[in-house]
Amino acid sequence: MKQKKKKITVSDITLLKKYFGFKGINTICQSAKCPNIGECFKKRTATFLILGEYCTRECDFCAVEKYNPELVDINEPAKIAKAIKRLGLSYSVITSVTRDDLSDGGAEHFAKTINEIKTLIPESKVEVLVPDFLGNTKSIDIVLNAKPDVFSHNLETVPALYGKVRKGADYKRSLKVLRYAKAAGFKVKTGIMLGLGETETQVFETIEDIKSTNIDTLTIGQYLAPTKEHYPVIREYSPAEFKTMEIFAVSSGIKQVASGRYVRSSYLAEENFCI
Ligand code: SF4
Ligand code: SF4
Repeated sequence: MKQKKKKITVSDITLLKKYFGFKGINTICQSAKCPNIGECFKKRTATFLILGEYCTRECDFCAVEKYNPELVDINEPAKIAKAIKRLGLSYSVITSVTRDDLSDGGAEHFAKTINEIKTLIPESKVEVLVPDFLGNTKSIDIVLNAKPDVFSHNLETVPALYGKVRKGADYKRSLKVLRYAKAAGFKVKTGIMLGLGETETQVFETIEDIKSTNIDTLTIGQYLAPTKEHYPVIREYSPAEFKTMEIFAVSSGIKQVASGRYVRSSYLAEENFCI
């Protein structure tokens, strides 16, 4: 039976924020202090953060808490599925902190979450935004076998800045993750941020690398420092510059590109799903 669409008002957005906190459900919308939170909640889209609130990596641009990985909440997949049903969300993005401390990187937990959602609300679309799983293809397969509608993994920035702002990650490994999922026949997506100190040439080269993986969707957004303690914004890009990047990406052959100051990989994910 088709799920009835529930109209969400501005006051419902406040309720949604309270609901997520109260039920012990984390959203990256709140944890990362995303500027799009009002718009996304109003459009009945949210990005759930699973596997705890603490990351085992230390990206300097990221507002997620670091260091103290928590015990995995085995009830979390069912809780998230119930929340999606209760709130009438038609499209959900499931992401996680990086859990290098877990043998499968949390892949099984991702798969359980997809399965719970698909069982409870079969018409609901699920996008997963996964960590790199240290390049472990067994972990990637566990997630893909649960049949997410979209598989996403963010490159975040150009390779030259990985050592500086994205410690523990590996640019080539991340490209392999994208290539692997695409070769398995999935809709695949990635995102980068501008303003961390990259050159335009480096951005163009990164877009070409992304194209080489054959993925479907690329998002390009402006880096906005979550607090003064985080990595500073080195450069603000103009709307015309975002347009230039978009035109270059489209002309290089990427099917769908969203580029703009407030674009995030999960921004308007449902609209970007229709490719
Ligand atoms: Fe949440 Fe993504 Fe929207 Fe930000 S862009 S509010 S993280 S769904
Ligand atoms: Fe944030 Fe992801 Fe980096 Fe962890 S790996 S610090 S969640 S961007």
